[in-house]
Amino acid sequence: MTNLKEYPYAASVYIGRFQPFHNGHLNSIISALQKSHRLILVLGGAYLSPSIRGPWSVEERIQMIQSCLTKQQLNRIDFIYVRDRLYCEQLWIQNVKGEVAKLIDSHLPIAIIGHEKDSSSYYLKVFPQWVFLETGNFKGINATDIRKSYFLSENLKSAYDKMPKPISNWLKNYRKKMAFKIIKEKYIYIQKMKLNKKLNLNSEVSNVFIVCNNYVLLVKSKQILRKNLFSMPEIEDFNQFDPQNSILNEIIFKNFNNKLNFKLLNQRIFDYSDRYPIGMQKSNTFYFQLNHENLPTVLPGKNSEHVEWTLLDDIHLLENQIYADHFQIMKWFLNFTSS
Ligand code: NAD
Repeated sequence: MTNLKEYPYAASVYIGRFQPFHNGHLNSIISALQKSHRLILVLGGAYLSPSIRGPWSVEERIQMIQSCLTKQQLNRIDFIYVRDRLYCEQLWIQNVKGEVAKLIDSHLPIAIIGHEKDSSSYYLKVFPQWVFLETGNFKGINATDIRKSYFLSENLKSAYDKMPKPISNWLKNYRKKMAFKIIKEKYIYIQKMKLNKKLNLNSEVSNVFIVCNNYVLLVKSKQILRKNLFSMPEIEDFNQFDPQNSILNEIIFKNFNNKLNFKLLNQRIFDYSDRYPIGMQKSNTFYFQLNHENLPTVLPGKNSEHVEWTLLDDIHLLENQIYADHFQIMKWFLNFTSS
């Protein structure tokens, strides 16, 4: 048993995506355990659907991390995970602080460890009550490069050399799974798109959040990045938007003789910088209420495979199957639209 008084800090907090956990992360954990009695590992991006930025679930990441730590190290580490709140930063900060407070008395000296690698590391400084300890950069290892080699290259040695052996073994096994093939297909698509010199790297799409009697309309699009995932329907051009017919690419309202009665409740542009992997793509999202006693029958349009009305209370059950930030966008409208 280690003694709290032997360490300058009662706990260190280490926030990361760990997609995947690599030697740089491991090195930071080892040095944090020399300075703090306990280590609290905060896994970000919990419940997000798999993407090229985050292929692995919280459970898979914890399994990978645990596989390369000793029993003694694990006895001093707590794992917690938090949702991203891309459009509500204060809620994310409160959530991290709240989860940490469940484990450690906030009056004790607490450090936050990490490496300020670029502007995305700003979050290391939003917890002024904790002492920031810079870990330094370990051998220039970068998880984005590791993922790219792992999913796209045939020569995996250089990627595997940057991570603990139990993790490379875990990842070798993962290559046999369907989940690997799905992410690889997305990587190949993105790479192909990036080769297109005419591609608009600063684009905007319009999405519709359509709610009727506490049900929301979700589609499974044929578009590769959204394939197999639920998302809000995409419409081509909001200026031409006519609820009767301009969403036909992804939805068809069937056998609906009466005019559809739509009311626009709210609208916002969602522009989190990493929401789309090919350049910046903002989503101009329109929140509509459909006023009908019965749910209109819907069918997939030419660009979608599946469409369904889902009970709003149940969307959290689908969270890890919802495309990119669409879950967070829907929640934002539900929280911030006055009735
Ligand atoms: P990461 O796994 O890329 O990095 C974790 C830590 O390790 C970082 O401090 C990073 O700088 C460091 N690191 C990376 N390579 C290193 C190396 N070679 N040597 C030493 N250190 C190295 O994770 P991340 O993307 O920084 O994680 C932040 C998490 O917090 C994400 O999940 C993000 O979504 C979440 N977050 C959410 C919000 C919000 O929802 N509002 C805001 C900020 C952060």
